[in-house]
Amino acid sequence: MKIKQHGLISNFIYAWKMSIKGGKGVLVATLFIGIFQAMNALVWVYAPKWIVSFVEKHYSVTKFVWFTVLVCAVLFISNALNRYGYTKLDYEFVKTNAFLERLRMRKMFKTDFKNMENPDFLDFGQKAKNALYQGNGFHGVLYESHNIISNSIIIIFSSVMIGIRNIWVLIAILFMAIIVGYILGWFGKRDKIKFQDVMAPTNRKLNYLERTSKNFDFAKDIRLFNMSGVFKREFAVLNNFFFKKNRQHHNRWIIGALCMESVLLSETLVMYGWLVWSVLKGEMAISDLLLFIGLVNSLHRNIGFMSWIYSAVKTNTLMINDYREFVNWKEDSESFAEGEGVEKNLDFDSYEFKFENVSFKYPGHDNYVLKNINLTIKNDSKLAVVGINGAGKTTLIKLIMKLYNPTEGRILLNGRDLRDFDRDEYFKLFSPVFQNIECFALPIFENVSFEVEEETDMDKVTSALDRSGLLEKIDMYDAGIRVNLLKIFDEKGIDLSGGEKQKLALARALYKDAPIVILDEPTAALDALAEDRMYREFNNMVKNKIAIFISHRLGSTRFCDQIAMFKEGEIVELGTHSELLEKNGEYAEMFNVQSSYYKDEEVISHG
Ligand code: ADP
Repeated sequence: MKIKQHGLISNFIYAWKMSIKGGKGVLVATLFIGIFQAMNALVWVYAPKWIVSFVEKHYSVTKFVWFTVLVCAVLFISNALNRYGYTKLDYEFVKTNAFLERLRMRKMFKTDFKNMENPDFLDFGQKAKNALYQGNGFHGVLYESHNIISNSIIIIFSSVMIGIRNIWVLIAILFMAIIVGYILGWFGKRDKIKFQDVMAPTNRKLNYLERTSKNFDFAKDIRLFNMSGVFKREFAVLNNFFFKKNRQHHNRWIIGALCMESVLLSETLVMYGWLVWSVLKGEMAISDLLLFIGLVNSLHRNIGFMSWIYSAVKTNTLMINDYREFVNWKEDSESFAEGEGVEKNLDFDSYEFKFENVSFKYPGHDNYVLKNINLTIKNDSKLAVVGINGAGKTTLIKLIMKLYNPTEGRILLNGRDLRDFDRDEYFKLFSPVFQNIECFALPIFENVSFEVEEETDMDKVTSALDRSGLLEKIDMYDAGIRVNLLKIFDEKGIDLSGGEKQKLALARALYKDAPIVILDEPTAALDALAEDRMYREFNNMVKNKIAIFISHRLGSTRFCDQIAMFKEGEIVELGTHSELLEKNGEYAEMFNVQSSYYKDEEVISHG
């Protein structure tokens, strides 16, 4: 996975562009704080000179008192405004962060499906998230910006004042500042490569373990199979790695700080040498000496400070680079040739799919999971896909749903390559019922409609839940179809059993009422009665629709017009149930094994 690296300035500008897109508040607060902070610091630099000047020039005490009052008032006002700026910055930054997180989530939700199965891409998503943590990435850069403004004002002002007095001293100071910046930049970059990048997969694993150990769905297995030992071991390995890398990270910065401090020390020597020399030669009054000590000190301090800011900004802009590349990641669907993925009009009266010599390998894998598939699925027809585990059945479904594109060959819908169709519009054609379904911590009606209440047809939700057999359970709760699933946000939230989840999946499909129904082992977790009910519901549901049905219960495939028997990624038999039985091949063998098992079961249950 190749991630493009932008320069520091480019990433810095990007951070600000994004911040302004999220709202102008952070910019206004930053300018505010930057200017008042600089003003405050410069008043303190000038104060000693002013005081001594009063003595040197024999001004009256009244003048001195008035002057002091004026200076205190200026300091008080600028301090108060500064504080106000900080409060505003905190508040405004929360808005910016929410805006950035929304973009990141949108990418996660919309990215090509294959990316979600790719650990490199998931690491990439984790790195992008790193740029949103407090103190990191955007927060780091945007929060340092007011310091950049105030420090720049102080550095420019002090340099000009010193430069007017002695240009060589100024050149020496700036030269050393550049060396300090270079040292810190070098350490920052090294740290990003040797610490943060290396830690990304470990952080992802730690997050996974953390999430899993808190996830109620896993709680039972973890206890029953006594998996806490496995978790502890995994945590220990990851933590050891983390501690080792963290130690190296700190040692690296200790060496960095030593190098930087030694350069800063030489800088101090040059500056004080110059001041002492000027006073000894009688070229500088005491009040000016105090002023220049102040200017030299603040220049020195701010250059040191600026170097740290530079290194922090450099590290943070590298994180921003990851975020930026992640949210702008060019999807395969975006790099389609001209005309691909653009057809949004999928309002057909009938649907016919055709697989032409389709072969497929998963990205990053060498073996073909589907080999040379040729298949036609006619309008309103029902196709059953059967075969042992790993034969390629689910992969076929993923291809037909355009979650992946074929590696070779093409799939046509009504004569047009699926690649031509807009992905989001294409997804609308499908009502899928999968065996593993996810519940979201949302009210049950949203789990069915995936829309907010205003856009949900609540009667249709009730009817879908009724037809799927889940309404009886939901009716037991006072909140009815508004009852929350899972206990993540609501302690009264409900959990569904495996079979109930499959009923929920059916309710989703019924609600969506799309023209193509996909049933991927949808009854695996159901009891016999519920399975019977669900089959009847399927029959109603798939009338006048295309249905593709994956099942291990071969008897249940009888109602299909075509059965495709898959073996090692190939269709080895194709025909109706009776044709395939007559053929007496792989399908018949599998069917006979299963029916003898059912007969045995009957004998046992009746015997
Ligand atoms: P079936 O649905 O018939 O059980 P699948 O289509 O799920 O089979 O899997 C077919 C083959 O593809 C299996 O060998 C499986 O290990 C492999 N496979 C499935 N998903 C992936 C993936 N995301 N990456 C790599 N290989 C995969």
